[in-house]
Formats: sequence, structure tokens, C-alpha cells
Amino acid sequence: PAILAIRDLRKSYANGFEALKGVTLDIEEGEILALLGPNGAGKTTLISTVCGIITPSSGSVTVGGHDILEEFRAARSLIGLVPQEINLEPFETVWNTVRFSRGLFGKSRNDALLEDILRKLSLWDKRKNRIMELSGGMKRRVLIAKALSHEPRVLFLDEPTAGVDVELRKDMWNIVAELKASGVTIILTTHYIEEAEAIADRVGVINDGALLLVEEKENLMARM
Ligand code: ADP
Ligand code: ADP
Repeated sequence: PAILAIRDLRKSYANGFEALKGVTLDIEEGEILALLGPNGAGKTTLISTVCGIITPSSGSVTVGGHDILEEFRAARSLIGLVPQEINLEPFETVWNTVRFSRGLFGKSRNDALLEDILRKLSLWDKRKNRIMELSGGMKRRVLIAKALSHEPRVLFLDEPTAGVDVELRKDMWNIVAELKASGVTIILTTHYIEEAEAIADRVGVINDGALLLVEEKENLMARM
């Protein structure tokens, strides 16, 4: 069964702009799906709507069987979201950043789990550092650690490598591969076809608010 079911999702912004024009998509547990599309295609709008941050004009989203609007808390607790912008508290330590994030979801304290997450992301040695002392690449890792802190089953990464150099991009690809091995379902957006090719099992091509095709990676490459 699909962990995430998106049905005829539409979004018109207050100014009348139609950013999503009826997106339907099922995502299976454990897969990595890349949403590939140019700037302005509607990728962020899609992620924000699926995660319940913005309200769709029509259509539905269910996560693990929970409707994102009707059962927001249950659905949202299954989702980890890594936003495009680095929105971290500069004076907070890495450890507290991740611990508070778990607390926000009402999850009981589990230091062993947080240690495991930080170790996997090579952040354990930085746990006592303040966010402001970290490099851009490390801050992006903290965003991922935060998003994983409440043990989501689906992780969204919004343009995880936008504006980062080649080395950091490869770094991020490795992190995604390791996360897949841990069983979490991953949906990421990108405008780099080589990124979709490198890390995804399936690729959805989005343009002008519409999902043009969704293909297993091998089939997509044959079509392009
Ligand atoms: P919603 O329909 O979800 O309530 P709004 O249409 O009210 O969202 O937009 C939220 C804010 O984003 C508004 O202040 C709006 O002016 C601003 N905004 C308008 N156009 C854009 C754009 N092209 N990209 C990003 N933000 C925009
Ligand atoms: P992407 O993430 O693929 O770059 P977005 O979802 O951010 O695309 O934006 C899709 C389209 O919707 C763009 O044309 C953008 O300008 C527009 N848009 C985004 N937010 C708003 C808003 N709040 N109000 C009006 N238009 C918006």
C-alpha cells in the first residue's frame, strides 16, 4: 500500500495564480522519488501542500492513511520536512535544536535515538556547538537531523542541493542513500537531472503546476 497518496491536488494562490493543476501520485514505502522541474514549476507548492503547511484549493493528501487536513497531527507526525531555507536558531546548540524538535511532536525523550541520528549525519562531534559556528553543509545536516528527530516515515527534502558546491552535493547524495537503507521513504525536489538520476528510484517530471510523467529511473533515461 502507498504510504503517501495525493489525489487531484490543486492550488491557486490569493492572486489567482494556479500553481498546482491537479496532481495525482502514489508513493510506496521505502522508495526515493525525485520531483524534477525548473524554477517556478510548483515543486515547493506541492511539498508545502502535501505537508499541510498551505491549504490546497481542492484535492486530498493522505499519509499512512491519515488525511493531512482532517487528521493533521497524526499525518504530520509521520512526515519529516527539510525546507529549502536554513531556518535554525543561531545561538542554539546542535543537540538542543534536535531535542526541541522531537519535543514539538510530543514524543518522549529518547537520547539514544538522537545520538544515533547525529552520528549517522556526522554531527555527533558538533553536538555542543552553536548553529552559528557551523558551515553551510553542516547546517543542512542539522536540518535533516531535526526532520528525523520524531521518527517520520516519509522525509521531504526541498531542493537539498540548491546553491551548494559539487562536493557538498555528492555528500548529500550519500546521506540520502544511507537514509534509504534505514527504511525511510524519501521525496526530494531538484532541478538537476543528474541528481534525480544519481539518487532516485522513480522520477516525476513537474512543469507549470502539472506532473507530466512519473517513471522508474531507467525508463525515464531511455525517454530522454
Ligand atoms: P495563500 O493562498 O496560501 O494564502 P497567498 O497567496 O496569500 O497564499 O500568498 C502568501 C504571501 O506570498 C503573500 O504575501 C503573497 O503576496 C506572497 N507572494 C505573492 N506572489 C508570490 C510569489 N510569486 N512567490 C512567493 N510569494 C509570493
Ligand atoms: P518551484 O518550487 O518549482 O520553484 P514554487 O512552488 O515555489 O515552484 O512556485 C510555483 C509558482 O507559484 C511560481 O510561479 C511562483 O511564483 C508562484 N507562487 C509561489 N508562491 C506564491 C504565492 N504565495 N502567491 C502567488 N504565487 C506564488
